[in-house]
Amino acid sequence: MYNIVLFGPPGAGKGTQSEKLIEKYGLTHLSTGDLFRKHLGEGTELGVLAKKYMNEGRLVPDEVVIGMVEDKINETKNSTHGYIFDGFPRTTAQAEALDKMLAIHNLAISGMVALDVPQDVLKARIKERGKTSNRVDDQDEDKINTRIKVYLDETLPVADYYKKQNKLSKINGVGEIDQIFHSITSVINSYS
Ligand code: ADP
Repeated sequence: MYNIVLFGPPGAGKGTQSEKLIEKYGLTHLSTGDLFRKHLGEGTELGVLAKKYMNEGRLVPDEVVIGMVEDKINETKNSTHGYIFDGFPRTTAQAEALDKMLAIHNLAISGMVALDVPQDVLKARIKERGKTSNRVDDQDEDKINTRIKVYLDETLPVADYYKKQNKLSKINGVGEIDQIFHSITSVINSYS
């Protein structure tokens, strides 16, 4: 059973690589961004709450995100071969909460795979995605800049959290999708 944190800034390619990893390893994809967008689309109470944060490129409050992830783990834990966490944890508090909720089920994070992509490439990718993604947060330069700033200020420390546990592997996130995928699978195959 693998429980993988796929990490990287907005536009790093986490969603693209997650799809391929799910297919290869039969894992459950737990993308907090996707879950929030689903709630938004369905107009649930959670969706209404998350909307203002998402559309501005700010983080949804920790307790809201953590509660949503807890529900998803409880729903799926008996039928899964493991998880790919995508877009979560995004703060150190979320990382600590994740360790605790996994421990309850006798589970732990196998490792974090961090995709490394320079800022100019990120911005270009997000703008390109904005043409078709229908995401308000992909279409505006200020919002893109806010997301990158939030990543640097609040999310980057999460990599240190896993580094301290000897669970961090960095991968070059620029290049052919299949080449990057291959690098990620090499890391995952090294997990015991
Ligand atoms: P990105 O392409 O920026 O990585 P995501 O699809 O992962 O986007 O997330 C979109 C938005 O959803 C974020 O900008 C944020 O508002 C909210 N969000 C997603 N995951 C989290 C999280 N773990 N903590 C707080 N907010 C989150």
